[in-house]
Amino acid sequence: MDPLKIGIVGAAGRMGAMLVQQVRAQPGEARLIGATERAGSAAIGKDAGLLAGGEALGVMVSDDAVALFAAADAVIDFTAPAATVAHAALAAQGKTIHVIGTTGLEAAHDAEIAKAARHTAIIRAANFSVGVNLLAGLSRRVAALLGDEFDIEIVEMHHRHKVDAPSGTALMLGQAAADGRKVNLKDVEVRGRDGITGQRVAGTIGFASLRGGDVVGDHTVIFAADGERVELTHKASSRQIFARGAVRAALWGRGKAPGLYSMQDVLGFAD
Ligand code: NAD
Repeated sequence: MDPLKIGIVGAAGRMGAMLVQQVRAQPGEARLIGATERAGSAAIGKDAGLLAGGEALGVMVSDDAVALFAAADAVIDFTAPAATVAHAALAAQGKTIHVIGTTGLEAAHDAEIAKAARHTAIIRAANFSVGVNLLAGLSRRVAALLGDEFDIEIVEMHHRHKVDAPSGTALMLGQAAADGRKVNLKDVEVRGRDGITGQRVAGTIGFASLRGGDVVGDHTVIFAADGERVELTHKASSRQIFARGAVRAALWGRGKAPGLYSMQDVLGFAD
């Protein structure tokens, strides 16, 4: 089989650079055919390989997402919510596999992505690491096994540059715990506490976010009862795990029917 033709949007970003390196590391399976950045970026016209801190690849960064989606088999997108929604529409037009890692999307963005997924395969995950997806599966099971006497709290820590909170991964873990309890996360979530909050309401799922330094991503799901506590933790020490998972998702997407898929589908962890 020919290598999958991959495009990377946001190629000069922290994840963009990792993705370029990852595609380069899998020459038999994937080939970088284009890369974009937002209009006006200093990266436009530069070689994507050099920008990612390696050898030149002969792929110049452009701001032409339309051409990229038309030429690629799959586009990997770790950018920003508004950009990702615009990209999803281009993926629908070009029948391009769209791998979405962007977080911080609102309900209106989700609806646009679901619309695009009627026309092409979109694989979306708040976290592309194998470990976090395992943690989500475990959190769902543990939440199903333990009763309401166990309070569920989710704590996350990320680097100082992160712009959204709680992290998309924390929300994904909260969703998994809510699924395990067969409740709607929106009905039970408590996003941060401040001041005279009153006592904790039974059955809620709380979130707490810490920011600082260069922390790639730590997540702990706590199940706390009177007298005992279970904590499930994942710590990411390299962004490479997300890039590896995203390229794996792009390769998995080859030949898939239109639809919205998750990393749980890619890994075969879905129920
Ligand atoms: P970053 O700010 O370093 O990179 C984002 C890049 O996207 C920037 O270079 C920006 O210029 C570019 N961009 C913005 N609009 C664009 C457009 N219209 N066209 C092309 N490029 C555009 O951020 P980052 O740390 O790389 O994270 C990016 C996103 O990925 C965030 O939402 C983050 O939370 C998420 N993330 C997800 C995972 C996961 O596994 N799902 C892992 C890490 C980060």
